[in-house]
Amino acid sequence: MNLMYHSTRESSIMVTASQAILQGLSPDGGLFVPTRFPKLTTPIDELSRMDYRELAYEVLKLYLTDYTEEELRDCINKAYDEKFDTADIAPLKKVGQVYYLELFHGATLAFKDMALSILPHLLTKAAKKNNITDEIVILTATSGDTGKAALSGFADVEGTKIIVFYPKDGVSRVQEKQMVTQKGDNTHVIGIRGNFDNAQTGVKKIFGDREFEKKMKKAGYRFSSANSINIGRLLPQIVYYIYSYVELYRKKEIQEGDKINFVVPTGNFGNILAGYYAKQMGLPIDKLICASNDNKVLFDFFQTGVYNRNREFVLTISPSMDILISSNLERLIYHIAGNDTDKTAELMDSLITRGQYEITPNMRKNLESFVGGYATDDETKITIRKIYEETGYVIDTHTAVAASVCEDYINESNNKLKTVVVSTASPYKFAESVLDAIGKKDIPEDEYEQAKILREISAAPIPGAMEEIHLATIRHNTVCEIDEMGAEVEKFLKII
Ligand SMILES: *Cc1c(COP(=O)(O)O)cnc(C)c1O
Repeated sequence: MNLMYHSTRESSIMVTASQAILQGLSPDGGLFVPTRFPKLTTPIDELSRMDYRELAYEVLKLYLTDYTEEELRDCINKAYDEKFDTADIAPLKKVGQVYYLELFHGATLAFKDMALSILPHLLTKAAKKNNITDEIVILTATSGDTGKAALSGFADVEGTKIIVFYPKDGVSRVQEKQMVTQKGDNTHVIGIRGNFDNAQTGVKKIFGDREFEKKMKKAGYRFSSANSINIGRLLPQIVYYIYSYVELYRKKEIQEGDKINFVVPTGNFGNILAGYYAKQMGLPIDKLICASNDNKVLFDFFQTGVYNRNREFVLTISPSMDILISSNLERLIYHIAGNDTDKTAELMDSLITRGQYEITPNMRKNLESFVGGYATDDETKITIRKIYEETGYVIDTHTAVAASVCEDYINESNNKLKTVVVSTASPYKFAESVLDAIGKKDIPEDEYEQAKILREISAAPIPGAMEEIHLATIRHNTVCEIDEMGAEVEKFLKII
């Protein structure tokens, strides 16, 4: 029997996994969620003999039930291949008293590659399966890392086009360079004069515009989303939570059934939500520690039960976490409300009209496994420097937010369980801030020169992806206002 998916806001809209992936967002504005959590029943000794790809199949087959084994294995094999610079795909490293799960060994040096290397394959197979002949147009808003990961995943994939909007002044030099040098005739990259929330809201508006949809249909196009609202982004992320548990078991750091904690640097709440899904499947997770930067809307939410986006948007040194509307939180809200679509719709409506909502005491009880923490830019920098000086290990600014929150948590709680810090980006991707944190003076402007300095002080070699953008030419230079986003899409697709 197929595992079905429905909207967080309306349980009568029921679709298969491949249809949910194709649509991205449900027509009522809600997000697709599985109607139940499948249980992981494979014995750990069996799991511990699997490599990353085999484990990915073991997990994904439980969710993507309308894909055949052959289709699914093909997607997995195409995703987790030599694009990753290590055969482990997601190495787990012990540093000091904690473990770092390195999710940045893919093509774009950030954890978005874990899901975006497989999504294009899941999507094109879904189109075939559902007899879709329209060309699929991926429309994406990015705070920096999704954009490049989606571009590189979809570039030159037959039957698709991809359009990426990013905040012109809100991404790092390397992030921007990675995007504007993207090759592939089916790619289009646009900077907007606004922040990430503006970009995300603009994209959602185009998705919800029925007139726009009609025009698209007439021209033989249909939209889909590569943003983390797409369930096809979320599900592949469950794999590495299970993988790191199995790794700890394999290395005899834990015994079967021991609980562990994860600390996750969080923005849109996609990464940590996958950890929650892993826990619901039976993985022995004690705490999921949600680490925010100065945009600490989630920290406040876990403290008070009130989600309030009415506050100043802060630009930090961890730009991929500069977010005030964490889209994926809607899925958690739905689950902690006891799968109540009406309640979820009511709260999301309140978020749109009043910029805030408050959850019920019962819902708060269901948040027990979550802990919120945050780190300021200064605390983040101090953490980078401290870990470097004590251990020689260099972490990026996003991972450092989690490392800082992790240290606070270990010092302030009695929780002595093994803890994994989810490491979301290579320090090379944010070299300038990292060098600054370590105390380097006269840092050169050029990102490749920065990389060379980082190379001298760290054990990690310069990733191939850095060498590539160093030599690449700029191919995209469009910049637009927030209210011109729709017009830009029409222009690129030639449907005016
Ligand atoms: C996207 C991103 C995050 C935030 O992840 P979410 O799933 O949006 O919570 C953290 N760190 C890096 C480097 C990222 O690219």
